[in-house]
Amino acid sequence: MEQAQPPPAHIAILPTPGMGHLIPLIELAKRLVHRHCFTVTFIIPTESGSPSKAQQSVLSGLPPSISYIFLPPVSFDDLPEGTRIETIISLTAVRSLPALREALASIAKSNRLVSLVVDLFGTDAIDVAKEFNIAPYIFYPPNAMCLSLFFHLPTLDRTVSCEYRDLPEPVKILGCIPINGADLLDPVQDRRNDAYKWVLHHTKKYPLAEGIMVNSFEGLEGETMKALREMQQAGMPPVYAVGPLVNMEPSTNADGAECLKWLDEQPQGSVLYVSFGSGGTLSSKQMAELALGLEMSEQRFLWVARTPSDKAANASYFTVHGKDEAFDFLPEGFLERTKGRGFVLPSWAPQSQVLAHQATGGFVTHCGWNSTLESIVNGVPLIVWPLYAEQKMNAVLLTEGVRVALRPKLDEDGIVDREEVASVVKGLMEGEQGKRVRYRMKDLKEAAAKALSEDGSSTAALSEVARKWSTNTEPSP
Ligand code: UDP
Repeated sequence: MEQAQPPPAHIAILPTPGMGHLIPLIELAKRLVHRHCFTVTFIIPTESGSPSKAQQSVLSGLPPSISYIFLPPVSFDDLPEGTRIETIISLTAVRSLPALREALASIAKSNRLVSLVVDLFGTDAIDVAKEFNIAPYIFYPPNAMCLSLFFHLPTLDRTVSCEYRDLPEPVKILGCIPINGADLLDPVQDRRNDAYKWVLHHTKKYPLAEGIMVNSFEGLEGETMKALREMQQAGMPPVYAVGPLVNMEPSTNADGAECLKWLDEQPQGSVLYVSFGSGGTLSSKQMAELALGLEMSEQRFLWVARTPSDKAANASYFTVHGKDEAFDFLPEGFLERTKGRGFVLPSWAPQSQVLAHQATGGFVTHCGWNSTLESIVNGVPLIVWPLYAEQKMNAVLLTEGVRVALRPKLDEDGIVDREEVASVVKGLMEGEQGKRVRYRMKDLKEAAAKALSEDGSSTAALSEVARKWSTNTEPSP
């Protein structure tokens, strides 16, 4: 008699707020479903109670083996104004834990639940996974360099008494090029702020995970990965480079169709794409200098130009897809003078399609790790313009480590002035330096494709995780 097949193993994924977390986790889920026959449920905490337009656009059209539920909104009425995003993100997860427990209990009733995957700020849910007797894993959306800093942070915290930015020597992070304290990720720049305490709290919980997947690949960060693997001897979990996991789906958003049509009409490799991610905003003065610099460069450009914010560089992090703008913050006459040569979008571009388009020849990026990986898989060289989070670290890796990017200089007021914008843009699109970074980016594109190929390193790493999950036969209560 034929034996009944056991039901497919089920993975629950808890993404903390931020498109930069959700997008690569969705790509991870797709690989788990398509290559390893798991079923997946996203359990999504919300700070508002309803999905944003950006969340809807990436969640629509998921395969049937991936489902999602939104948890009830949590309240932040008690938080003072100016609370940093890392604190809000962490508290969203912590305050959602009772609802997470209920969701897991309900999923476990009809599925063989084997693992809960959380992202870099979701570590408080590791204890909940243990209550359910399922394997807690971390998916780390940034790179191995940043993960190495996370491993090292508790030691740094114990051994350094000043602010890290005041250290006279660059910080040595295992397996990475030394990095100035001022370039370390934003929330560690003020050790008295709650955001620092939250990051430190998370880093101390990392050893409790059974494994950590990082969105990078051996050809990009081989040395760092080697160092991270060696940390297993010191009690850290195994680390798997499973990337680059990037969104390659065409956008379902109608707003983007017009800019793609415009790109179709431009010569190959001639357009510079300018975008600061889902949350990045510039000051009014910087916005004007960027506009005038793009104009001076005489290059073609496609620019996602958000309303400037003189308050914070990540002012639109939770409000992606704001209402359409009138562009009245751009210098007078700018749109008319650059008409035909430039295309300006108000808040959101179909980025995966823009970067894959044959007309796109360069990318001015805030160095968000998803944007960086999307550029790498398409072989598009970069101009780095870090704004917040771990982006300064990424900029150092891209310019001094793998050397696939140019970096504009700041003036004494911390502004990239119009002449510098024009010079670096021309340098990338037409100059000798640009040729060199373009060439290296082509090599990196090939290394990325190899990592994800049938016998590539990232494919093997994810198979290893999948094998561990599949053999986890412990029933959940
Ligand atoms: N993105 C997009 N259109 C935009 C801005 C961003 O599709 O106009 C996508 C982008 O392709 C990437 C993600 O949003 O997948 C942004 O993630 P990233 O890590 O680069 O930056 P973050 O927004 O987290 O700072």
